[in-house]
Amino acid sequence: MTELERKHDRTPVPSQWDYAPAPEARDLVELRDRYGHFVGGEWLEPKETYATIDPSSEEPLAEVGQATKKEVDLAVRAARDAFTNGWSEISPAERAKYLFRIARILQERSREFAVLESLNGGKPIRESRDVDLPLSAAHFFYYAGWADKLEYAFPNRKPRPVGVAGQIVPWNFPLLMLSWKIAPALAAGNTVVLKPAETTPLSALLFCDVVRQAELPPGVVNIVTGDGRTGAQLVKHEGVDKIAFTGSTVVGKAIQRELAGTGKRLTLELGGKAANVIFDDAALDQAVEGIVNGIYFNQGHVCCAGSRLLVQESISEPLIGKLKRRLETLRVGDPLDKNTDVGAINSRQQLDKIKELVASGEEEGAEIYQPPCRLPEKGYWFAPTVFTNVAQSYRIAQEEIFGPVLSVLTFRTPDEAVEKANNTPYGLSAGVWTEKGSRILAMAQRLRAGVVWANTYNRFDPASPFGGYKESGYGREGGRHGLEPYLEFE
Ligand code: NAP
Ligand code: MG
Repeated sequence: MTELERKHDRTPVPSQWDYAPAPEARDLVELRDRYGHFVGGEWLEPKETYATIDPSSEEPLAEVGQATKKEVDLAVRAARDAFTNGWSEISPAERAKYLFRIARILQERSREFAVLESLNGGKPIRESRDVDLPLSAAHFFYYAGWADKLEYAFPNRKPRPVGVAGQIVPWNFPLLMLSWKIAPALAAGNTVVLKPAETTPLSALLFCDVVRQAELPPGVVNIVTGDGRTGAQLVKHEGVDKIAFTGSTVVGKAIQRELAGTGKRLTLELGGKAANVIFDDAALDQAVEGIVNGIYFNQGHVCCAGSRLLVQESISEPLIGKLKRRLETLRVGDPLDKNTDVGAINSRQQLDKIKELVASGEEEGAEIYQPPCRLPEKGYWFAPTVFTNVAQSYRIAQEEIFGPVLSVLTFRTPDEAVEKANNTPYGLSAGVWTEKGSRILAMAQRLRAGVVWANTYNRFDPASPFGGYKESGYGREGGRHGLEPYLEFE
């Protein structure tokens, strides 16, 4: 034994790390007391309003509009005006210029946006700063590049913009989902009316400021806020040529029924219940990081979250042991603290849904594990959770929980892994962990999922198309594919 090893042996393993708070500056964001709807480049005073809050403290942040049928109508008219009177006809290189400007302004103002996103949504600042903001800007940069190359993207097909796009986004990645929607729509020459989620409207409202700063012609981007009723008005509106929706499968199905026979185009990005498959030859420590990133990233409010862990039986025990030890080191708390790994649950409603499904898991006979952690008294919180002894029939193995809750199942052979992974009405994403390249390729062929990550998880790139099979929806966002829903071809 060397001197070093002997010394190492005697060093007590620290049982707990104390972190001094490292809060990001809250005053980077200046909030108004009240926001209207952004219509035709102006703020429209709202008829009705509601308070949007900080889910980590339940403090109200601002009053925002609940758009009525009339207000949605004004926004759609403004978008139509902007489409016919200029935007669809300006040179594509000019269009690109605006998108490049928006991308650069998002980069310049990224700290401010990151703080606002964490304040209104509850996600850790580390994530809004390092994931949401860089990816949002990257999306605008990427589609800016396509704006004057559409003829090359779709050779011999004469692409034309569709017209006015109605876009509805959820609360889990408010600004990023806005970017996924607005960047390709504008690059293709459309104008838009976008509705952010009821609980997270503030980054979309700050984005209106970016739109003005970039001197985008009025009416090209319009934002109306409000709950599902506002979304339903937008879907129904006769002046809208295309609906792009990201959200739950239930609402997606309702929209599909509503639009049947109208000739309006529709893309749906819906829910998921992804399998993250760990083979016995995988690098276990790396896999543990991937599992943690797969399900605890953004409190598990991720449509492509690796919420079903499929572990090869021979390594189940050591892997789950490592995973539990890793969970003890996750820091749950203040979203604005740079040390925080897991922030607040987005809303009371979502917290109730998580609690209900977790209770069902315990009742049906799964074994629950939660690391010791002290949750703040105010606000909406849920400890990182792992369920073992889960059967495929349990609700926690079937339904999307959309929270920091992992269900562990085991398998013996690759065939069994594929069968279990595909045993879901969804098909958005999957993960595979193995040392063998050939096995990765074979699994990627057989898994019915829009995205398959290999030896990593929750990685995004604007150049890569994203979207689902089966009840996870249809249409793709990102990449050249992401332009197609916003174009017509001769
Ligand atoms: P949701 O209730 O379906 O809401 C999504 C959006 O639709 C919100 O803006 C919502 O407004 C609006 N809405 C609600 N009812 C509507 C209606 N009848 N007509 C038109 N719009 C309506 O979903 P959520 O619970 O907020 O979001 C979580 C779900 O989104 C999860 O199932 C998740 O998997 C899915 N998701 C999918 C992706 C993807 O890319 N595939 C990405 C993120 C999330 P309110 O805010 O007022 O409800
Ligand atoms: Mg909802």
